[in-house]
Formats: sequence, structure tokens, C-alpha cells
Amino acid sequence: MVEANLALYRQLPSIDKLLQLDEVQILVEQSGLHWVTTCLREMQEQARKCISQQGQLPDWHIDWLKELAKRHDELGQSALKNVFNLTGTVLHTNLGRAVMSKTAIDAVSKAMSSSVTLEYSLDGAMRGHRDRAIADLLCELTGAEDACIVNNNAAAVLLLLATVANGQQVIVSRGELVEIGGAFRVPDVMSQAGCQLVEVGTTNRTHLRDYENAINEHTALLMKVHTSNYSIEGFTAEVEGHELAELGKKYQLPTAIDLGSGSMIDMTAYGLPEEPMPHTYLTQGVDLVSISGDKLLGGPQAGIILGKKKWIDAIQKHPLKRALRVDKMTLAALEATLKLYLTPEKLTNDLPTLRWLTRDPETIRRSADNVLVALQAFYGDKFIVEIEPCLSQIGSGSLPIDRLPSFAITFAPLNGKGGTLEQLASHWRQLSEPVIGRMKDGKLWLDLRCLDDEHTLLQVLLS
Ligand SMILES: *Cc1c(COP(=O)(O)O)cnc(C)c1O
Repeated sequence: MVEANLALYRQLPSIDKLLQLDEVQILVEQSGLHWVTTCLREMQEQARKCISQQGQLPDWHIDWLKELAKRHDELGQSALKNVFNLTGTVLHTNLGRAVMSKTAIDAVSKAMSSSVTLEYSLDGAMRGHRDRAIADLLCELTGAEDACIVNNNAAAVLLLLATVANGQQVIVSRGELVEIGGAFRVPDVMSQAGCQLVEVGTTNRTHLRDYENAINEHTALLMKVHTSNYSIEGFTAEVEGHELAELGKKYQLPTAIDLGSGSMIDMTAYGLPEEPMPHTYLTQGVDLVSISGDKLLGGPQAGIILGKKKWIDAIQKHPLKRALRVDKMTLAALEATLKLYLTPEKLTNDLPTLRWLTRDPETIRRSADNVLVALQAFYGDKFIVEIEPCLSQIGSGSLPIDRLPSFAITFAPLNGKGGTLEQLASHWRQLSEPVIGRMKDGKLWLDLRCLDDEHTLLQVLLS
């Protein structure tokens, strides 16, 4: 055994010799001697381990240069790989939520490649802060008096609370103490903002009088949180935005609503489930409304606070704003995205989020028809490949019960064993452009709702 191993060790090439090869020298020129030597040492180490533990050389031993080149390619790849999102969830948080419009991509690229007038006015008139230009656009779209832009909606809620109610009480309905995926829980954000949460009502029913009874001299804010990711049905009651606004006026207390996704436009006009619009609440007299940039809005990750000038001024001046502000790339992408909303009739074409959400099932079905035969030919010996109707989700805190009819290519194992499905999903995750589907009912589903390019998908899946 040891004898045999010795023979194997002797087969390992010397690093010095490898370094002298032209092919390796090319890599040294590209990535430096340090990287190449480190990589070769690592390979040697792995090969030795393989010999000592398994008594054999690694598979790649037959071609060290090929393996080195492969590792070099991997080095050049981004940790953020482009993937095909065929999960059926349009705004998939783990896959980066909204995909940007062409105009937003161009705007970011332009802003990145040059100095810009981020906080610099060419006419010498100082306009205050970096959000100014985009805040004006937001006001035009929502009827808000002013706006503030931060890193995400969680940051927006934190900053809003810290500014308006630090050291004081905030009244919220028990039915709205939500947790949004990841560690965003309303009670935790309250305490981080230095506010004392006062819960009123019950899980299923909260009345205006519950809010009113809880008001005292320590109350600083009346708040509502849109329960976006779950619904309570049956015997329920919640306080409407306009009621809260009236109560706020009566007691001279500010009111705020965390709308979560929110939407600039009436989603029902596009045949989509209703999503509350900031405009509605601001018109009703709610002082502050916050929404996400990368949910239904279809823009970059951002948090947007809209509302009364008096409060936005205070929010802009809060020291936390400096920590939560966005950079020029986000502002450029957000501005370009918002500008699309000025021509709503073009949105379903130009804004990928809305294009995919409104894609009708027949179009998706045609897309499935276009790829079916090639996939059956390639995968047919191991899987039953079919077109089946399915339901897509909006995602990112939208109601899971609001589903959109769609079509998927499904893969069911011919031999009836589930293990091969796992292998297939895993193989697709390793592809040059990974394909991410969904496992359900013993099948692997590729929902084609978010597929724009059938040709590239086939190229990848048939490799
Ligand atoms: C999604 C959501 C948030 C968090 O927004 P991010 O932009 O992801 O930080 C906060 N509140 C509600 C109600 C949400 O739906």
C-alpha cells in the first residue's frame, strides 16, 4: 500500500517545472506569480491528500494544465452569478429581487463611469441634499410634499421612527406586528430606533378606539404596517389609513404607514392583485409613508419615505440619514426607474418586473412550446418532460395567496426515484449560467414567466 503510494507521489509534477511552461506563464502574466504558485501548491496539496487518504490520484491529474486553467477561469468569475430565475417567484429576494430596466442600467453605468453632480449644483444654489432631484420626481408621482431615500425600506422605517418618536411611544395594532423575511421584525426595529412599542387591539381585530385609548402624553406616533406577506381572514377589523389620519389630527400626533412594497400605479388596472399606493394614504392625510425600491416598484434596493415636508426635513437632518443614505448608482437607477412611470402605457414593456408580472399565460405557453421538443430530445431518456400549468408568485412580501396563472416545463424521473431530480437540480445549479427551478410534487418545475431569452436557456440546458 505505502509502496504503491510512493509511486503515485512520484507522479506529481514539480511546481517549478510547471511554472516554466508557456501556458502557465500566460496565466502568470494575467494574474501574477503569487496567485499561480498558490494555486499550484493547493493542487499539489489536494493531490497528496487524495493519495494518502484514498490511495489514488485525483481525477484531474491527467491534465494539470487544464485544471489550472479551470481554476483560473473560476477566479475571474463574479461571486454574483447571473442565473435564470425560473422559480416562478418574480421578485425573489434571494435572487436579488427586481431586475432593472434598460434605462436604469444605462443610467447606473453612466453615473459610475464619471464624476456627477451628486451634491453639487452647477448654478451655485445649494439645494440641500443628494436626494433633491429624485425627491422632486417622487413628489410628482405620489403627491407627497417631499421625500427621503435610504438604503432599503427597513432603513426607512428605522430612520422614520428614530426621527419622529425616539424616546417616546409608538402605537401599533397587534395584528400588524409583522416579521418580514430576514431579521426585520417591527418590535425589534422599534427598540433599535429607541421607541417604546405600544401594542393595541388583538391579532384579528383592532379598532380606532383601541388607538385612541392608548394615547397619552408620551405618545409620539400612530403607526400602521402593511401586512404584506400574510393575511388574516374571517372575523377581522383593522383601522384604515384615513381613520388613523383623522385621529392623528384630533390629537396633533403624526401618523405613518410602512407600506412594504407599495406601488406607484394601480396594479388592478393591469389585472394584478391590488397593492396599496402611497398616493392614496398621503391624500388621506397620513404624514409619512415608506416603501421599498426593489419590490413592485421594479427599481434598485432602496427605501423611500414620502410625506409632509416638515417631517421629511427632520428626517433628512437626522444623523442616521448619513449612515443610511444611498450612493450615486442607486440614485441613478431609481431616477431612471421612476421616469418610466411618467409614461405608464410603456411600463409593461420597459420595466422587467411589470413585464413579467403581466405576461399572459398564453404567451408563456408559447414559450414553453418553443423549448419543449429540444428538452425532450436531450433529457427524455431519464425524465418525462412535459408542459404543465402552474401558478407564479409575485414574491417579496406580496401575498402568497395572490397567484398568477402560468406554464412550466416539468421534469419527472422516468424510474420514479426522486434522487435523480436532486441531481438534475444540482447539475443545473453548476451550469455556466445556473438555471434555478422549483421542486414540487415529485417534479422539477421551470416556470417560464420570467424567461426572456429561450435561445440562451436552451444553449445552457443542452450543454
Ligand atoms: C419588505 C418589507 C419591509 C422591508 O423592506 P426592505 O426594502 O426589504 O428593507 C418592511 N416592511 C414591510 C411591510 C415589508 O413588506
